Amino acid sequence: MTELLSPGYVGHRAPRPRRPLVEEVDGSLTCVAIRPITHDVVSFDLLLPDDAVLAHAPGQYLTFTFEVGGQPMERCYTLSSAPPVPGHQPEVVTITVKRTPDGPVSAWLHDHLRVGDRVRAVGPFGEFSHTRHPAARYLFLSAGSGITPLMSMTRALGETADPADVVFVHSARTPADIVFRDELARIAERADRSVTVLCEGDAPGEAWTGVRGRLTAEALLAAAPDLLEREVFTCGPPAYMEAVRETLDLLGVDPSRRHEESFRLGALTRESADPELTGERHRIELRRTGRTIECDGSATVLEAALEAGVSLPSSCEEGACGTCKATLLEGRVDMQHAGGIRPREIQAGKFLPCCSKPLDDLVIDA
Ligand SMILES: Cc1cc2nc3c(=O)[nH]c(=O)nc-3n(C[C@H](O)[C@H](O)[C@H](O)COP(=O)(O)OP(=O)(O)OC[C@H]3O[C@@H](n4cnc5c(N)ncnc54)[C@H](O)[C@@H]3O)c2cc1C
Repeated sequence: MTELLSPGYVGHRAPRPRRPLVEEVDGSLTCVAIRPITHDVVSFDLLLPDDAVLAHAPGQYLTFTFEVGGQPMERCYTLSSAPPVPGHQPEVVTITVKRTPDGPVSAWLHDHLRVGDRVRAVGPFGEFSHTRHPAARYLFLSAGSGITPLMSMTRALGETADPADVVFVHSARTPADIVFRDELARIAERADRSVTVLCEGDAPGEAWTGVRGRLTAEALLAAAPDLLEREVFTCGPPAYMEAVRETLDLLGVDPSRRHEESFRLGALTRESADPELTGERHRIELRRTGRTIECDGSATVLEAALEAGVSLPSSCEEGACGTCKATLLEGRVDMQHAGGIRPREIQAGKFLPCCSKPLDDLVIDA
């Protein structure tokens, strides 16, 4: 059952004064509605401080800090809602969370987060968005909860009346596991959208009559015969992503037209191509801490700090969550981030120590 902050919250509010449009949030969001999506997926509608409207790219995520069992725990969640566009100023942002078996944070969200509660979030982060790679034709491939960024993009394309043609291929275990099932059916009614849902098996009480099995080259070609001309966006569990990569290789899809988001930190490998990384040792002055440490060319700034016994704030340790963000006062780094810092922040001298290796001696505000 849907839980709302107050009866009539959705769509029945008195006209509001103009709400501030903000480009980032770093504070407490209030949960104003909880909506079950499937038996193990729930959407949470969150109101920003000062009722602000968050400008973000569809597909981006926030990094949350939840108090779980008295411990702060950080997790990233994609905004499944569409961003604001002229004429459409969403009152809330939405995250859609699948319960991970034995997963402490997703279980806590499902079992303990209530309407009226506040959660801390920073963001938005991430570069997985069709807006970064505009095209006339897209292919969206998702599995399980990996649908959230693709749904945000599809909603955004709808809100902006973008004439792009979208083929959306979603994989689920059973019909009972199809996230946003009704909305996918409505999207499929549009002439410029095609939706294919594949299920591996039946649900108790429902035999699947659509395409069965996992995503294969044949299924993909049937859904998108012109896939070589499409910009491809993929999000899902690691095994699915690996299978999609192999299939797209087999079908000859240009790697420069493929874009991926992984929900599993540690699944990414980012090798630096910077020829200036010589393995040379560099000095790092931590101005606020009052320490100067050494870093060999193979270590990140965070690793060097930890090695020297200096504790810096950090969480994901691979450039996704943005927790360790600091200011680089002097020197240059080779930063291989995963979307946890915005271009504007880099221009302003910020960097992520967890995924940055020094190219010079550094002075940092930490
Ligand atoms: C960019 C991004 C977007 C995501 N969007 C969604 C979404 O829309 N819907 C959804 O259901 N899930 C999403 N996730 C996954 C989500 O963040 C959680 O990993 C998931 O809910 C399981 O968390 P858990 O604590 O229940 O389980 P766990 O099994 O404890 O989760 C393990 C995973 O959590 C992550 N993790 C563990 N420790 C940390 C840490 N200190 N800081 C940050 N991450 C950590 C790691 O990826 C790890 O593999 C997203 C993940 C990322 C990285």
